[in-house]
Amino acid sequence: MNATDKKEMPLLFIGHGSPMNAIEKNEFTGAWENIARELPSPKAILCVSAHWYIDNLAVGASSDPKIIYDFYGFPDELYKVKYPVQGSPEFAEKTARLLSGENSRLDYEFGLDHGTWSVLCRMFPDANIPTYQLSINGNMPPEYHFELGNKIRELRSNGVLIIGSGNIVHNLRMMKFEEDAYDWAAEFDYRAMKLIEARRFEDLIYYNHLGKDASLSIPTPDHYYPLLYILGAASKEEEIKFFAEGITLGSISMRSLLIG
Ligand code: ZN
Repeated sequence: MNATDKKEMPLLFIGHGSPMNAIEKNEFTGAWENIARELPSPKAILCVSAHWYIDNLAVGASSDPKIIYDFYGFPDELYKVKYPVQGSPEFAEKTARLLSGENSRLDYEFGLDHGTWSVLCRMFPDANIPTYQLSINGNMPPEYHFELGNKIRELRSNGVLIIGSGNIVHNLRMMKFEEDAYDWAAEFDYRAMKLIEARRFEDLIYYNHLGKDASLSIPTPDHYYPLLYILGAASKEEEIKFFAEGITLGSISMRSLLIG
């Protein structure tokens, strides 16, 4: 093993927002493209996406994962986007081994949802880095997701880029077609940033103790849990950089961060 093998890959949390970010040019997609250029080149990408939120723990192990158009009512152009990336059965098996004892299974059916491909088609448009997903078991409590992040941490020293794809604030019911943020959304987004900066991960795990702003911002935890995987895979002393921020549609935070 040489020195570069030992270096850990950084971690990313991407606030993915609308699937239209796959094809639109805006400040967020620009920030994703820029951060991708700063990264060391990964051997594989493991994405924990809000959109594979199921009742069990699965690791995508297909060598040729299909991309899933898991949204409705968007322009035709979006359904024509291709992202012909390979999977990584090898790293999927390794991930399942790291999670042995967690009742995980290898999955060959699901593929890659838009939480993964709508972001990666901007960050890595050549689609040449093997990519696979880990499901989020929605039956489990928040501390479990943080712990799983810790268990898969070793992948970082094997050259795997772990990405959490969700949104820190994500309330679709309150969404509006104006760009000004609700106060509770802006306040919780800011508070989460401060807690991340201060490494107060416990407070972020037990977000349900953070009051009304938190409960409005996280009405369901599917888009929030990907953040906990990233925090769980981080070590205390690593540098944290926020490279995108902003609230869209009133109630969706686009805050994105790089750790390491
Ligand atoms: Zn989403």
